Amino acid sequence: MTKFNTLLVRGGKPDDNHTGAVNVPIYNSSTYRYPKLGSDVRWDYERSGNPTRDNVENVCAELENGDRGFAFSSGMAAIHAALSLFKPGDHIIIGDNIYGGTFRLVNDFLKPRGIKFSEVDTQNIQALEEAFTPETKAVYFETVTNPLLKVSSVKQISKVAHEHDAMVIVDNTFLTPYLQKPLDLGADLVLHSATKYLGGHSDMTAGIIVTKTKELSDKVYTLQNSIGAILAPQEANLLRRGIQTLNLRMDRHIANAKKIIKYLERSDKVGRVYYPTVDKNSIDYAIIKDEARGAGGVLSFELKDGLDAAKFVNSLQLIILAVSLGAAESLVEVPAFMSHFEIPKPDRLAMGIKDELIRLSVGLEDADDLIADLDQAFKKI
Ligand code: PLP
Repeated sequence: MTKFNTLLVRGGKPDDNHTGAVNVPIYNSSTYRYPKLGSDVRWDYERSGNPTRDNVENVCAELENGDRGFAFSSGMAAIHAALSLFKPGDHIIIGDNIYGGTFRLVNDFLKPRGIKFSEVDTQNIQALEEAFTPETKAVYFETVTNPLLKVSSVKQISKVAHEHDAMVIVDNTFLTPYLQKPLDLGADLVLHSATKYLGGHSDMTAGIIVTKTKELSDKVYTLQNSIGAILAPQEANLLRRGIQTLNLRMDRHIANAKKIIKYLERSDKVGRVYYPTVDKNSIDYAIIKDEARGAGGVLSFELKDGLDAAKFVNSLQLIILAVSLGAAESLVEVPAFMSHFEIPKPDRLAMGIKDELIRLSVGLEDADDLIADLDQAFKKI
């Protein structure tokens, strides 16, 4: 069987390229000629299929060991399509710490249309068990949460969900198939904001779904084609290119993160560092060791009480103050004032997100330069 690193670089090539081009061309064609009326054509209209997009979809399916891949115009478009598998009256259990945009989709769009949701701490398997109702059709969660990097077990959740005939949907944006393959661990559908590590270069938005079974693939294909939020060919090409170096980038993200964690743990300005492998006695560590090859390139840390997070991030010169993650550039954000600003303060504090919490998406720069930047900013607070 072809190994993962080879699939990253060489996977999914189409069979319609007669030019000898090494890379899949960008097919800028919204429509395709029928040789004759009634001909059975492979492609007819871009929303229904495009060779450039097909290629990256096939690569993703191979990387996840899935049946079929689907590429969307953003991570949210992929999530919308996945949650469109359900109908009014269905009940879905969702992780209580999922991406804010997903909560917005759930609360402002799906709940008013009659789909029911319960929020559960998916690390707590007993709480999960108790949340099932006869209408529960799915469990939806993120393997590693943002910004506190809590890890949930795909294996345990899949076991419980399947006992209740519910499907398992995993947002694995933080780990990527290089570090973990949820479908191999029991999930039915894995999705990504490919805007992050899969694309890897902060130059496009994309979403990916990979399904485990043909039955599910057929349903997702119908939704992708019906809703229409497909990935455009130019972006599909950027995603293909990003994926080719996923392994190298991920290794470097992790190596840099580990060096920065060592530095932060020695700093007298830092109260706590959040990263799944920091506490060897934690449930996060146990799950990562068992179900993944590494914990990724995002970490968070709390400044000691009373230290000014705004002053700290405003003093950074190399690390960029910006939302998003998984980029070549290191990005920093203050969840209380940026990504999690919409959550009322008491709720946010109850979630463990203090004003002093800072999230760092560690990039590919030299770790010494990143540490020097953090160091000079710490001296200013
Ligand atoms: N899932 C996770 C875990 C995310 O962090 C994000 C965006 O930050 C999304 C989904 C949404 O993806 P996109 O911004 O590509 O729509």
